[in-house]
Amino acid sequence: MRHVIALDVGGTGMKAALIAADGTSLHEARRATGRERGPEAVVESILDFAAELRAYGEKHFGEPAAAAGVAVPGIVDAERGIAVYAANLGWRDLPLRELLAARIGVPVALGHDVRTGGLAEGRVGAGQGADRFLFLPLGTGIAGAIGIDGRIEPGAHGYAGEIGHIVVRPGGPLCGCGRRGCLERLASAAAVSRAWAEASGDPDADAADCAKAVESGDERARAVWQDAIDALADGLVTAITLLDPRTLIIGGGLAEAGETLFSPLRAAVEQRVTFQRLPAVVPAALGDTAGCLGAGLLAWDLLATRVPHPTEPTDPTEPTDPTEPTDPTEPTDPTGPSSEVTA
Ligand SMILES: [Zn+2]
Repeated sequence: MRHVIALDVGGTGMKAALIAADGTSLHEARRATGRERGPEAVVESILDFAAELRAYGEKHFGEPAAAAGVAVPGIVDAERGIAVYAANLGWRDLPLRELLAARIGVPVALGHDVRTGGLAEGRVGAGQGADRFLFLPLGTGIAGAIGIDGRIEPGAHGYAGEIGHIVVRPGGPLCGCGRRGCLERLASAAAVSRAWAEASGDPDADAADCAKAVESGDERARAVWQDAIDALADGLVTAITLLDPRTLIIGGGLAEAGETLFSPLRAAVEQRVTFQRLPAVVPAALGDTAGCLGAGLLAWDLLATRVPHPTEPTDPTEPTDPTEPTDPTEPTDPTGPSSEVTA
C-alpha cells in the first residue's frame, strides 16, 4: 500500500507515523531524541528511525514509503531543506533534508514544527474550511502559523508567525530573543507556570495547577491568569489587526484549560477591538499529533507536486536530490501551491 513517512522531531522526543494517501495512520512509533548525547547523535537517531520506518513499511505494506515529511523545531529553511538553528538540539545549518534523502532514498520535505502543525490543524483539524487562520500553540514558548488558502505562509526568510516575540509589555521581563516584554514571556504555559509558582509559593506548581486554582476561585490565581490573558489578548489584537484571520486556533498546554482560558480570552479580545472584525477563537483539535500529521501532509504534497517518474529513486546511493529546486523561480516549498491539489 502506498504510504509516506511522517516524523515530528521535538526537543526530547520524536513521533512518527506511516500515513496512507487518505490520511489513515498505518503505523505509529515514538522514540527519544537522545539530545544529551549531542547534536550529531540526534541526527543519527533521526536517520536510524527513518530507515527503520522505511523497512517497516516495506515489510508490512508491500513497498517502502514513497516520500517522507519531517517537522523540526527552531528556525527552518523549508525551501532549501535546512534546519538553520535549533537551540535545544544544538543544530546550526544542518542539511537535514539531504541527509535523510540520502539515507532512505526517497524525496523528503522538511518543515518547521509549528507551521507543520498549523498545516494539519488548517486542513484536517480545527481550521478545516477556514481560508484564513492563525494557529497559536501556547507551550514552552509561543509561535504561530499563518494559514492562507490551505497553505502556511513561511515568510521571506522562514521567520513568519513569530508572534511570541511581539512586545506587549515594554520594559517587561527579559526574553531569550534579547528584548523585554515579549508575549511569550507573559502568556506561554511556561510563563504562567513561573508566575503561579512564585505567587503560590509552591515551586512545583504549573500552569495547569493555576487553571485549577482559578476554577476553585483562588484570587491570587485569578490575578496571575488574568495578567496572562490580558497580555495574550494584546498580542492577538495586533495579529488580528495585521492579518484579519477568520479563525484563531489556540493550542498547546495552556489551551488544555478549556473554557477557563477561552471564555475570558474571547472577552478580552472583544474589549480591545474597535474596527477589526472578530475571528472565531477555537481550541486546536489535533493535540500533540498535529506536527506528525502535518509532516505526512508535507510528504504527500511533495509527491503531488512532483512530475511522476516511473523509475523513482529507490537507490540511496543516487547522488542527485530529487527535491532540489532546478528553477529558482519555481515555488518549491511543499507547504505552498500544492495545497490546491490535495486540499
Ligand atoms: Zn522575545
